[in-house]
Amino acid sequence: MLSALDRNGRSCSLIHNTKEEIRQLKQNENYYCPVCKEKVLVRAGKKVIPHFSHFAKTNCLANANGGEGAYHESGKLQLYHWLCRLGFHVKLEPYIEQISQRPDLLFEFHGKIMALEYQCATIPLEEMEKRTSAFKSIGIYPFWILGGNHFNRMSTNTIRLNTFQQSFIHSFPHDLRMFFFCADSGHFLVCKNMIPKGKKSFFTSIHSSKLPNLTFPQLFGPIPLNRRTFYTHWANYVKKVRTTPVRHPTKAELAWRNELYRKGMHPSLLPSICYLPTPHQILSSDPPWFWQSRILLRSLLDAPLHSRISLRLPLKQFSFPLIESDQDPWTAYMDRLVDLGLIEMTNSLQYRKIRHIKLPATVDEALSQDRQTFHQLSQAKGRFSFEKNS
Ligand SMILES: [Zn+2]
Repeated sequence: MLSALDRNGRSCSLIHNTKEEIRQLKQNENYYCPVCKEKVLVRAGKKVIPHFSHFAKTNCLANANGGEGAYHESGKLQLYHWLCRLGFHVKLEPYIEQISQRPDLLFEFHGKIMALEYQCATIPLEEMEKRTSAFKSIGIYPFWILGGNHFNRMSTNTIRLNTFQQSFIHSFPHDLRMFFFCADSGHFLVCKNMIPKGKKSFFTSIHSSKLPNLTFPQLFGPIPLNRRTFYTHWANYVKKVRTTPVRHPTKAELAWRNELYRKGMHPSLLPSICYLPTPHQILSSDPPWFWQSRILLRSLLDAPLHSRISLRLPLKQFSFPLIESDQDPWTAYMDRLVDLGLIEMTNSLQYRKIRHIKLPATVDEALSQDRQTFHQLSQAKGRFSFEKNS
């Protein structure tokens, strides 16, 4: 840990002291763990950041993960100095008695208290959820940054995330976002406009900066999605889905495939509206074509023109600690159908079918329909975001 209590109970760290000062403090001062109040050791040397550590035998919760490692400590300190340079009054590892939590950094931004947690080690998901809800319970905004060791880029606009990493996705009014910091290179990465493709891969625009060039509002300000880039990417993705055999379908997916076959349909020949992107996809455990084709068959395809339609289906939903759960997963999808001129909104909750849906007869026809559909969406004026209907 980078901070401890002195004999007067004041929180202090040694990161601003010279080697000589640390040598003298080591002789004349005692330091105590803010969590268990046990005496702790001062560690300082040529290669380590001056810090405190428990004696080998301890049951202290602050030591539960066996210390956090040099990469983590170094990153935390770089983030601390960065925020201080930006003019924030930052507390390093303050112990919040009320919730028994010790965030890496605590500071105020636009009247909001933020707890910055820099997470490099993989911890149990429950632990991350527990810490997040503890902060929220006392009105602190949890701001999680993953270590660069978790960053897995597959291509210019694609990253891959396992279940643990996905729980660090933040929701903003305008998009889904994630933050990474590499303590070795000093690069801060912001993944903006995240849109899930499959269970693990995400489209995103990645912004990389060295810490000194990055200001705090740059992390949170809206960046409009480049629709042309996005839909070109998406058309390629859908082409791959249509033309690649599925290797490991789930039981439910298999059952639905069979139902489609019985109706004389095939997933590769579904119309483009069964492959539409939506940020809310993350809340569903089913792939897009799966639930979107259910909507097609149950509510849309055979409905007479001008009839009122309901697109809501029960959806098996996931929850994420940093994504507001009151989001309506259907709104974004219906917005796309409105953009495509297939349905129109009659009032804030009702929709009406206004055009017939064409089923492609061949894969080539399907791909051509995709190109047309995604081009149309890239030109559409409607919003493409995570924001709620107002
Ligand atoms: Zn302790």
